[in-house]
Parts: sequence; structure tokens; C-alpha cells
Amino acid sequence: MIKLHDKVFKPYLKEEQILSAIDKMAKEIAADYKDETPLFVGVLNGAFMFVADFLKAYQHPCEVSFVRLSSYQGLTSTGIVETLLDVPEELEGKSVIILEDVVDTGRTLKELVHLFSNTNVKEFKIGTLFYKSDIYNGEYAIDYVGLEIPDHFIVGYGLDYNELGRNLREVYQLNQTDMINLVLFGKPGAGKGTQAGFLKEKYNLKHISTGDVFRYNIKNGTELGTLAKSYIDKGDLVPDAVTIDMLKDEVEKNPDAAGFIFDGFPRTAAQAEALDNFLESKDMKVNATIALEAEDDILVERLLERGKSSGRSDDQDESKIRNRFDEYNEKTAPLKAYYEKQGKFHSVNGIGNIEEITGRLSKVIDSL
Ligand code: AMP
Repeated sequence: MIKLHDKVFKPYLKEEQILSAIDKMAKEIAADYKDETPLFVGVLNGAFMFVADFLKAYQHPCEVSFVRLSSYQGLTSTGIVETLLDVPEELEGKSVIILEDVVDTGRTLKELVHLFSNTNVKEFKIGTLFYKSDIYNGEYAIDYVGLEIPDHFIVGYGLDYNELGRNLREVYQLNQTDMINLVLFGKPGAGKGTQAGFLKEKYNLKHISTGDVFRYNIKNGTELGTLAKSYIDKGDLVPDAVTIDMLKDEVEKNPDAAGFIFDGFPRTAAQAEALDNFLESKDMKVNATIALEAEDDILVERLLERGKSSGRSDDQDESKIRNRFDEYNEKTAPLKAYYEKQGKFHSVNGIGNIEEITGRLSKVIDSL
């Protein structure tokens, strides 16, 4: 085990495994290009070590250059890819083969393809040392792959965690055994968002509120926002397929989180099952579901009060609020039995002052 900044990583791939994957890739590419002089373009910073070893394994005429992109700022992927070092000049008529360290969601790849789209290269191929096929969006064909790997956060061999770990000869994987994933359960107005705000600081967790993500999309006028708005305005649930995909996306954006607080998700049996399956595929699980309990009349009062300042249309009309409670009783309440069966359901009194309630929640979390 090694420690980088605040996180512990366990050994995952040995140097020999990495080098033999590179050797295999070099042979495959040589079979296609040894009679030409391809231009290999490494993607900085992560691919520097891979490109060096790749070139040692590829002993045929070739040129090499680099581009530099950055999609991660601090701990979370911003979803915005910046170009820091542009495409080499004089690409006309060349066969370009991109050498990436890792392809995961495909966001960086999209930017790369875009970078080269205005050049008149003869051919454009993509090679990657590591390939997370489970989460790749499939937009472009990947022509050469070193190793397919599951969707775990990895460091070493050029890859970093906040700039540390690039010089490791082997690849390490984030150790997730001490990860805590919580589902905050409760009717609208129960205080899930407020409490999540405190708990995320206290336990260093990433807070995902599906309601907030929808509202963010509505505010920014995205396609998802427009779709969600028609349901949210009436106090109805947004369809499962849309919500589940969005939730997965939010988790993927935080590959190095120490744990998650899911707030407002799952809200249906299908969402609960999808969450379990999704987390299992990533070697993660829900550790506990904690319900904040409060009576309807108190919640209606709280929500109407919140509606005065939040501007949320679904908080300003008692009939919409009651409809949200009906949705909850019909679709969400049955999840109590689902999590009880797994021995994960905990209930906490949601009435009292904010600190008191945080204290009650912390007691449950500390006992996990
Ligand atoms: P909230 O902020 O959690 O109260 O969510 C506000 C609204 O967003 C809900 O009334 C639903 O219309 C929608 N929403 C949020 N989370 C979900 C979910 N997990 N499934 C379906 N709809 C959701």
C-alpha cells in the first residue's frame, strides 16, 4: 500500500504486465504501419512514460510529438477539457496515431478528435494503454488497446492523483475498503440537503443531490433540464431511465471521492436496484440508508416557508407539495423494506435543531 496526499492505494499492475501490454500494442501497430513513417502523438501529461516505453518497443521509422490537454481540476473532473499544447504543425498527408494513457468516459478523446479534425492528415488512429470499456461512451472507435481495466481510480506509470504518483513504475488502485456511501432518505422538506451539507464536510464525502442536478440543468437550459422541468413543476418524479443515467454520470465525475451522500436518490425500486448494481460493478456499495423522519404537516409548513425564498415553484403550492408526498408514499416509501432486508436501514428523528439532527446522523455513521 502507498499513500498519496490523503488517500491509500494498493498495487494493481506490475511493471512486467504493463510492458508486455505495450509490446503487444507496438507489434499490432507495426503490423499496420511498419512500411510507413507514422507520427505518434502522445497526450500529456499522463502518457509521457507510456510513450517512452512504447517507442522503445516500436523499432521502425516513426516521428513523435505531443499535445497537452487537461480535464481534471483538483479533485473533480470539470467536464471541460482545456488545450494547453496544440497539435504539431505540418501534418498534411501523415498517418497520425494518438497515444493516450487512459480512455475512460471519452471526454478528452472528443477534444482530441476535434483538435485534429481541421488538419488534413492521411489517417487518424487512436491507441490507449488503459481502456475503461465499462464507462466509455463509445463515440469513436479505439483502434489499439493495451489493457482493458475496470473503472477504478488508478495512479502510477504517468498517471497522477493531484500530481503525485506519476513517477511510480507500477500502477496502483484506490483502496476503497474504507469508503462510506450513504443514502439520505426522507420526504421532501425532511432536511436531507441541509444535513448532507454538514455531513459531507465532517466525513469528507461527495454530496450528490439529484434534485440539485436537475435544477442546475434547468437553469442552464440543457436538454435534460427541459425534460426534467415538465415533471418537477408538477411535483412528479422524473422517469427512472433519465435519472439513473444522470446519477451514474455524477458518480463517474468523482472517481477519487472518499465516499458519496446520495440525497434524493434512489426514489423508486428500479433506482435502488440500479444503484446497487452500478456500485457493485465498481467494487462499491451502499453502507447505510438513513431516514429523516418528520410529520407531513410540519414538512408542508417548512416547504412553504422555503418556497418564499428559494423561488422553487414546487415549494410554493400546497397541492404540488402534497403530490410530492403521494409520489413518495407510493414509490419511495417501499424502499424502506428493500434496505431493511439488507440490514442497512436506519431511522433518525428529523425534528429538532440542525446540530441536534446532525448529531443523531453522525451517531449512526460512526457506528457503521
Ligand atoms: P428534491 O430537490 O430532491 O426534492 O427533488 C425535486 C424534484 O426533482 C422531485 O420532485 C422530482 O421531480 C425530481 N427528482 C429528484 N430526484 C429524483 C429521483 N431520484 N427520481 C425522480 N425524480 C427526481
